[in-house]
Amino acid sequence: MAINNSDGSAVEVSGISKQYAGKQGVVQALADVSFGVDPGEFVCIVGPSGCGKTTLFRILGGLEPATRGEVTLDGSPVTAPTPNMGIVFQEYHLFPWRTVRGNIAFGIDNAAVDGVDQDERVQHLIDLVGLAGFGDSYPKSLSGGMKQRVALARALAIDPDLLLMDEPFAAVDAQTRERLQDELLDIWQETGKTILFVTHDVEEAIKLADTVVVMGKEPGQIRETVAIELDHPRSRADAAFGSYYERVRSLIDG
Ligand code: ADP
Ligand code: MG
Repeated sequence: MAINNSDGSAVEVSGISKQYAGKQGVVQALADVSFGVDPGEFVCIVGPSGCGKTTLFRILGGLEPATRGEVTLDGSPVTAPTPNMGIVFQEYHLFPWRTVRGNIAFGIDNAAVDGVDQDERVQHLIDLVGLAGFGDSYPKSLSGGMKQRVALARALAIDPDLLLMDEPFAAVDAQTRERLQDELLDIWQETGKTILFVTHDVEEAIKLADTVVVMGKEPGQIRETVAIELDHPRSRADAAFGSYYERVRSLIDG
């Protein structure tokens, strides 16, 4: 359970299987994956490359149909992308011809959010993700970490109840990654959103999550779900952090 008051949404993943028709026959990317996420909970999904994390993410986001099973968001089946979800990919997917401000505003333009002053909202988001002073910059002039901040702000722009993030910090350097992790935790605590965060980095998962869903591969499946009962901020130098790390590591290694 999350420690904050929350407007986040509840997610239920029930018996999800996914098969792809590959060149060498059928690939069972996911086999009977089920878990629940409470409103405001921060859940990290970890597992080795190829265990179906991105496939699960795409099904959660309504970007891809499951072969079997169902995902619900606050009780309603997810069959297509909805404005209740903000999605952040590993690649930034920014529009090079739009400024930081323009990229963030794009989400609001599209969702036609009523009753908000758009300029004020975009400025608030720029400040929230630590990009004050860069509103008029273009993506090409930004570092990887800054681009990922823009992508996060754009996902937050429509004020979704659920944030879906697929290895969002994998492409940035270690020091920037730590900063982004801390900022994401601040935003999570401030907004109470539900966050589903995919990573192959066990340390990142232990640092962020209320609950870590550990997956194994061939076929992609859930090995175990581990509740991380540590206060924030968490330090990897802490003995309890270390034992969670070892536990999740050994679950992944099987
Ligand atoms: P992860 O994100 O954990 O690395 P993926 O979800 O990307 O894993 O992939 C899971 C498995 O499904 C892999 O064996 C991968 O090769 C296969 N796969 C993923 N997408 C497709 C696709 N579009 N067509 C065929 N096979 C796919
Ligand atoms: Mg992936």
